[in-house]
Amino acid sequence: MSDLPQPDLSQSDSLQPELPKLLEVWQETLGWQPNEDQQRQFQRLYEQTLEGNRLLNLTRITEPQEFWEKHLWDSLVGVKPWLVAEPSDNAPHKVIDIGTGAGFPGVPVAIARPDWFVTLLDSTRKKLVFLDSLLASLGITNAQTWVERAEQLGKSAEHREQYDLVLIRAVASAVVCAQYCLPLLKVDGVAVLYRGQWTEEEAIALESVVTKLGGEVEAVEAVTTPLSEGIRHCVYLKKVLTAQKKLPQKRDIG
Ligand code: SAM
Repeated sequence: MSDLPQPDLSQSDSLQPELPKLLEVWQETLGWQPNEDQQRQFQRLYEQTLEGNRLLNLTRITEPQEFWEKHLWDSLVGVKPWLVAEPSDNAPHKVIDIGTGAGFPGVPVAIARPDWFVTLLDSTRKKLVFLDSLLASLGITNAQTWVERAEQLGKSAEHREQYDLVLIRAVASAVVCAQYCLPLLKVDGVAVLYRGQWTEEEAIALESVVTKLGGEVEAVEAVTTPLSEGIRHCVYLKKVLTAQKKLPQKRDIG
């Protein structure tokens, strides 16, 4: 285990008793910590997810410590570069979480950055029905659900090249994730691919697809989870060229 304070949540059904120690871990690892309102929202998110699990197969991560690390912390580590950016900085504000499932990483991101607007996309309606009631119950007004397949969304004018930040975790291979994400990004927008292990083969395959889609691989950050020391990689893709075809100007014709 790491030298960070180790909360003992295993005997509890609440995140609350250990929150002071968790605050230190948030601060040490992400340079950010939730305020009291955000802590209450994380606690409600945990309770509601357990409740939702009774009817829907939302997640197998239900122990408080695991939930905190693998759902809350893991969701936010991908957006660490922008967590403490001032709203007036060139920070991303229009965000989409592709294949959000039970709301990860999109819901923790919406809680952490109430000034962003997060679309929670999934092809499965029943998970989004759960998320609609979750958002209402937590009082989250800066997020909406959207039922559609990612590949369809990329073809629609309403969504194509409209997002500053695209998040995608546990949906498909890195290449397929890039194919889903890049059409949705504005030029200069960033996609975060949340990955576990990261191999040279994946990196090579991703590079050529990203270039064809008008993007570039900006960074690959290796991270270690703070409690169980699992390995994660956050792959950051930047959109550098628009895919929109320029219509010929009148003077260019004939
Ligand atoms: N992102 C969540 C997480 O990390 O906990 C959920 C991951 S779950 C394994 C994958 C989710 O992606 C499912 O809810 C599935 O319905 C959704 N999904 C898979 N392919 C999709 C697509 N092409 N468009 C939209 N959603 C998709």
